[in-house]
Amino acid sequence: MNGPDRSGILAWLRETDESRLAELWHEADGVRRERVGDEVHLRGLVELSNFCRQQCRYCGIRAGRRLERFRLSDDELAECMDLAKRLGYGTVVLQAGEDPELTTERVAGYVRLAKCRAGLAVTLSLGERDDDELAAWRAAGADRYLLKHETSDAELYRRIRPGCELAQRLQVLRRARELGYEVGSGVMVGIPGQSYESLADDILLFAELDLEMVGVGPFIAHPDTPLGCAAPELMLPECEQVPATDEMTTKVIALTRLVCPDANIPATTALATVNTESGRELGLTRGANVWMPSLTPGRYRALYEIYPNRACVGDSAESCQECLQRRIAGLGRVPGRGPGGRARRAQ
Ligand code: SAH
Repeated sequence: MNGPDRSGILAWLRETDESRLAELWHEADGVRRERVGDEVHLRGLVELSNFCRQQCRYCGIRAGRRLERFRLSDDELAECMDLAKRLGYGTVVLQAGEDPELTTERVAGYVRLAKCRAGLAVTLSLGERDDDELAAWRAAGADRYLLKHETSDAELYRRIRPGCELAQRLQVLRRARELGYEVGSGVMVGIPGQSYESLADDILLFAELDLEMVGVGPFIAHPDTPLGCAAPELMLPECEQVPATDEMTTKVIALTRLVCPDANIPATTALATVNTESGRELGLTRGANVWMPSLTPGRYRALYEIYPNRACVGDSAESCQECLQRRIAGLGRVPGRGPGGRARRAQ
């Protein structure tokens, strides 16, 4: 396996000395440059719907929460695809809650639209869906499936996703792999009840699953959810509870780069939300190589409220484009061209 072993990972997660941590950032940035280069791939994120049948205790679009719900019309989706093409993005990520109205046929139509009309690579991120649906979307041309496992600790998983099982989520990832998708997963950092040990196991699981994409963001409490105020009975003692900070998140990004050197790793919106000044830069200089600007129509953006005060939620796609170009150039890097898929399969 690449990178540090479990005890090495744990030592880094607990490291507080800034000069030692500078070594980790340097190493991760070096591996990033050597393995996936200086391109920062741009993935246009389109949130299709905030309807959801699940009750995830961390998530602001969970079923039952009083919230104005939306679902993009076919015309709105087509406009998003045209915008992605105009802005030069090679990939669109179609994401949504687990919305039963996003039927097999409807999503297959969206995939065909993105491929034929705009020539885009398509990543789907629609939650846990059946084998038949995954197969139909792959046949329609979908390239990648993104499903964060959120935590590798089966007990914690049950607590944050009532009625769901980790094994079942991992099975969806395996099935997607068998169908020929590039596969992405990831976790939230600092979920109440998350220990350093379980976070180390998350990172080892990324390597074991041999992922093409790994998304890592800090947990951000949503006051209108059961995990909204970190209930003391859920929190571990301070020495054991992983903090949901930008530094801890970038430690996980850096360690992920070391164990999955060829993966595509985004500097996430959640990271930019906990550090609005420089969250993206911290991610991109500590192992990340992907930026996912939102293409969701402005009137719906705030309604995809998985957590509050999301970064960039009030910005137009055009102003995001200007901002990210400037910031990527400021790091001496270049925006990626083309679909920016799998760099190379692990040996
Ligand atoms: N229904 C899809 C998409 C969910 S939203 C699915 O289940 O995969 C995409 C991601 O948002 C989730 O995977 C989760 O990691 C993240 N998310 C949700 N609530 C969050 C919160 N309160 N803080 C940080 N990230 C959150």
